[in-house]
Amino acid sequence: MQIIQPHYHGIARTAQDYERMAMSGVVAVAEPAFWAGFDRLYPETFLDYFRQISQFEPTRAAQYGIRHFCWVAVNPKEAENPDLSREVMRHMPELFQAPTVLGVGEIGFHLTTPNEEAIFEAQLEMALEHNQLVLIHTPHLHDKVRGTKRTLDVLRNMNVDPQRVWIDHVEEHTIREPLDAGYWVGFTLYPITKCSPKRAVDMLEMYGTDRIMVNSSADWGPSDPFTLQQSVMEYRRRGHSLQQAIEVFHNNPCRFLGQCPKFDIKPIRVETIDE
Ligand SMILES: [Zn+2]
Repeated sequence: MQIIQPHYHGIARTAQDYERMAMSGVVAVAEPAFWAGFDRLYPETFLDYFRQISQFEPTRAAQYGIRHFCWVAVNPKEAENPDLSREVMRHMPELFQAPTVLGVGEIGFHLTTPNEEAIFEAQLEMALEHNQLVLIHTPHLHDKVRGTKRTLDVLRNMNVDPQRVWIDHVEEHTIREPLDAGYWVGFTLYPITKCSPKRAVDMLEMYGTDRIMVNSSADWGPSDPFTLQQSVMEYRRRGHSLQQAIEVFHNNPCRFLGQCPKFDIKPIRVETIDE
């Protein structure tokens, strides 16, 4: 089955991951700009990172027949340094022209501080001005509820079109509000903590499949890109059809990301012989 991995930090993963993903049906990944595990000191370090994810990483993925797209942003954690953030932001519009850059992300909150909020708003403004899609990171568990509520307040105050925003890392206690308000949401699967494949499938069964994307954790911490395939298996095991699985794990990312014309992979419809 063809799968899209909508949230993938390829710079932290091996070539073997790409190979095994290709063998398990992954046809495309999208790499948000995020924290690198340490706070960067220079704006130029971000610019080289953007070059890495927009120019180099696509060539690695292409070795295995996988399309690679990306996002650019100052992530919430490093937004705590406003001078650095604003210097990086000055260069972001150039990146929007790049052939594989889909929008502004991950932005949002980490500890929900005033600095984070100012840089979040400034990046949202930039996204609106340049007609870019938006990918939002929601905080870790200790602050997820408060951070998600504050995120929705900021978005509402700035009149952002909910259909062009993807609020990621939602869990059982934070999914309902963004969905009800018309946003796209994402579940992020972890091998140890946070959302598991079984819980992700529970949520799909509770909330349906509209405007929901599933992604596996894939970064430099304890993570496992193949929790995505485990979710596909769990979803199918519970009796959902192949087409329903394709809607969630392939077509929904096409629908959201495809609002940017650079993402040209189309939703697929399969024959129903094997159901
Ligand atoms: Zn991420």
